[in-house]
Amino acid sequence: MRVEAGARILEGAPIAEEIRAKVAADVAAFTAAEGHPPGLAVVVCGRSAPSMVYLDRILKACPAVGIEGRLVDVEGDDAASQAAELTTALEHLGADSTVSGIIVQMPLPRGIGIRTVIDAIDPAKDIDGIHPLNAGRLRLGFEGFVPATAHAVLEMIEHAGVPIVGAEAVVIGRSPVVGMPVAFMLAKTGATVTVCHSKTRDIGAHTRQADIVVVAAGHPGLVTGSMLKPGAVVIDVGINVVDGHLVGDVDFASARDVAAAITPVPGGVGPLTNALLLAHLARAAQRQAAERSGTAARRAAASVSTL
Ligand code: NAP
Repeated sequence: MRVEAGARILEGAPIAEEIRAKVAADVAAFTAAEGHPPGLAVVVCGRSAPSMVYLDRILKACPAVGIEGRLVDVEGDDAASQAAELTTALEHLGADSTVSGIIVQMPLPRGIGIRTVIDAIDPAKDIDGIHPLNAGRLRLGFEGFVPATAHAVLEMIEHAGVPIVGAEAVVIGRSPVVGMPVAFMLAKTGATVTVCHSKTRDIGAHTRQADIVVVAAGHPGLVTGSMLKPGAVVIDVGINVVDGHLVGDVDFASARDVAAAITPVPGGVGPLTNALLLAHLARAAQRQAAERSGTAARRAAASVSTL
């Protein structure tokens, strides 16, 4: 954690490092027990998409923690043939016991709907929580896979030592992958949550009341210092390129004079998201192994009882 004039700077890298160390230990235990490392499949439809940089980083992080990462290229001349290939690839990966987790490049190419992924991905391997079964579990308060970015936001707030229970929280953005999962998780933890979006009349009227402000809009400079309550904690999820530089959704210069703590962009939520995806993968691998040994034990018990 960096301390400058004004806000504490909440950096993701040190927390990510702690998470990766724990993942490496879990993965080593899994590999020793199962005889093979857990596998992560990153499925891409064309390598030119901007998200390729993010996916490359995840794949590069795998070997250091003992995970076997693989890139699965979906071929096809048009959207229809790509969608069919994507379905086939996801079904094969679902049936492959050496693959414990699957992430699919987003956004999908034009002409391929999210439905193609949802219909084919195994929810047990959906480590970024896009399947409705995992989204429903989150909504109902059951355990499942939550989107790694939303998980990173909560982890960042908790590491900052900020009490969530009883806090007034504002989430700007209501997407199914970031804004809404963050809002559900904050509410479940005990915050009073307001969700703002592009139709909100006066965002500042809400943020000025908030102890915690999470911004996930994809709009640089959306939140400025004058929109914050002194002492607020600000988590900036936004990633934007302005004049060739990566910036968040918060005007960092003015916000850090008012906030008690703030995440930088880059270097805040991003590195934590990456590490948490690996943690989700390790958890998926453990669960699938437990499920397999449970099934084997049940089969053995059934065969004994029929003797
Ligand atoms: P998204 O699907 O485009 O959703 C953006 C949300 O922000 C929508 O709910 C939209 O409102 C709202 N919004 C947009 N402009 C706004 C404005 N001017 N005022 C108020 N609300 C506004 O984006 P997303 O996938 O949730 O991602 C959000 C940001 O997070 C992006 O910058 C993305 O690159 C970044 N991101 C970062 C990570 C990470 O690991 N750090 C991971 C994923 C995404 P409506 O619903 O009314 O349209």
